[in-house]
Amino acid sequence: MDTVRAAAPQLAGLVPYDPKYLPAEALLSANESPTDIPPAVREQVRAALARLELNRYPDPLANGLRDAIAAANGLRREQVLVGNGGDELLFDLALAWGGPGRAFLNLPPTFSVYAANARLTGTRVVDVARTDGYAIDEDAVLARVARGDIDFVVVTSPNNPTGACAPLGLIERLLQATDALVLVDEAYCEFAGTTALPLLEAHENLALLRTFSKAYALAGVRLGYVLAHEGVISELAKVRQPYSVDAVSQVIGRVVLENRAAFQPAIDAIVAERGRVTAALAAMDGVEPYPSDANWVLFRLEGTGGPTAATAAAAWEYLYDQGVLVRDFSSAFMLEGCLRATIGTAEQNDALLAALGRFLESA
Ligand code: PMP
Repeated sequence: MDTVRAAAPQLAGLVPYDPKYLPAEALLSANESPTDIPPAVREQVRAALARLELNRYPDPLANGLRDAIAAANGLRREQVLVGNGGDELLFDLALAWGGPGRAFLNLPPTFSVYAANARLTGTRVVDVARTDGYAIDEDAVLARVARGDIDFVVVTSPNNPTGACAPLGLIERLLQATDALVLVDEAYCEFAGTTALPLLEAHENLALLRTFSKAYALAGVRLGYVLAHEGVISELAKVRQPYSVDAVSQVIGRVVLENRAAFQPAIDAIVAERGRVTAALAAMDGVEPYPSDANWVLFRLEGTGGPTAATAAAAWEYLYDQGVLVRDFSSAFMLEGCLRATIGTAEQNDALLAALGRFLESA
């Protein structure tokens, strides 16, 4: 054949996920940990991996790791599902609760992967946009779920890329107002110091998503998990890829979890730097940072005559030329003129602030 028939129609118009990850001295675009796992933990990882039989399939459901995660959260194994990064579990959610004839409630601007997964699975996407300051429009959300056709909702807390947590009261009122599955995406909750976990016992329609990629410095390993009632976990387990979490990742996850206290100083340092960077951005003329509970700060650049995508895109280029890679949201829905800078080491944050200061002087 010199031709191939078209791929599935739901792929039309979709583009592969591209975080525009480029080499740079200061990598502040992907909300990773700026430091690797502590050396003593790395040594335990090395020792544990040395004992691993690579010729054997891994435990398909990663039960050892599930048990450790369950114990760390006061739950049982049946209330935990481990995936190849949170991303796999988000796809599983769309497969299990979405599909043709079903609807997903999205709260943009938010993580773009949710809507992309919905489209891939033929799920209708219903958008309820956030308010001007990026708070969730609670009245509009409650009114929308009251119509009864929403099958699942994702509440991102802290919300990527805007930064703030969803109030627990709002999450609770939403859980009471609908029997839709409400996934609270807590990928960055360790930087916020809050979690919706206390709501789990009373709400069968709640699921929490967590990841080892951010606070636990394992973005390269690909490990995430869902906490939910047993009935929710067993549905998600039906669509999950067998063996998606390889044996190496399972071992690393267990060692890191056992040593989780060793990560707290790095988390505290990021929270302190977040305060310093936010204050420094706020002190710059023409820069408006948004309050963040996560490991980044979103900020808007005012051009002459208001925020412009052009000013922010020029700032992104300038920062990149100066060795600082941030994420450009300047042309995204409701994010005109916005850049997102991950909190890095103090030196990386200084490099960001100095380069942005020079850009503003020259503009
Ligand atoms: N949720 C949110 C809000 C994220 O920003 C990310 C990472 N970009 C994820 C989930 C998934 O992270 P991972 O697949 O690395 O666990």
